[in-house]
Amino acid sequence: LRRLQGEVALVTGAARGLGRAIAERLHAEGALVAYWDVDGDRLAELSAGDGFEGLVDTVDITDSTAVTAGVARIRDQLGPVGVLVNNAGISAPCDPQDVTDESWRTMMAVNTDAAFWCVRACLPGMRAARRGKIVNISSIAALHGRPATHPAYATSKAALIGMTATLSHNLGPDGITVNAVCPGIIRTEIHESYTDEQLAVFFSDIPLVPAGRAGERGLPRDIAAAVAFLASPDADYITGQYLEVNGGARP
Ligand code: NAD
Repeated sequence: LRRLQGEVALVTGAARGLGRAIAERLHAEGALVAYWDVDGDRLAELSAGDGFEGLVDTVDITDSTAVTAGVARIRDQLGPVGVLVNNAGISAPCDPQDVTDESWRTMMAVNTDAAFWCVRACLPGMRAARRGKIVNISSIAALHGRPATHPAYATSKAALIGMTATLSHNLGPDGITVNAVCPGIIRTEIHESYTDEQLAVFFSDIPLVPAGRAGERGLPRDIAAAVAFLASPDADYITGQYLEVNGGARP
């Protein structure tokens, strides 16, 4: 499918994991893709790979000034952003009693606040074009909770669902759709600080064994496929929704 021919897409947190899979899928569908990440080394490694095409830029999305400047660089080099995927996020296990003010604020700053800084920076271009697609990567944690997870993680991801709903009203008249994808557990480096026991719980209640897939259940490409759909003209009349991609888990 090449549903995004000629589109300019920005994916945050694209150096690895789900963001990388999303960026690669949007590229495969014809989009010119800007890969943003705070981890410049990983971006450099990625862009040095054989046949890599895309614009890589080291941007810490919690810095709203850097976000605005980065969106201007995309406009100058590729064109105005037509598809924004707010994917960058952080997670960690934490007992509620051990939550520090700083860890709470950091998680909210990356997972929620920065997503809005990215929306705000892309809006002038989308409004001028009278079209645009925004996809926020929330989580199963926003809807069902997750054992062991930092409470700010679920809070920050639930906030994205509220943001999605309101922005869909704010921006619908401009022809801009705003949706969320809520992934279930997909094994990535975000889980580095979780124990094997904690992770095993996440996998224990997934009913679906997709055809031909007995090992890992959910894969980054499953999330990428959902994002590509919501970013494409196939989803032109879908806005304000959240789509769970979680193998049917109901924790
Ligand atoms: P990951 O840790 O592998 O990748 C996240 C990327 O975001 C990293 O490359 C990181 O450097 C980048 N990042 C972090 N802070 C940033 C900042 N301030 N500015 C720019 N980039 C920053 O994680 P992942 O598993 O690929 O997760 C991607 C998104 O999906 C996250 O929002 C996560 O919360 C969400 N999610 C993941 C899962 C899962 O099971 N993997 C489940 C539900 C939701």
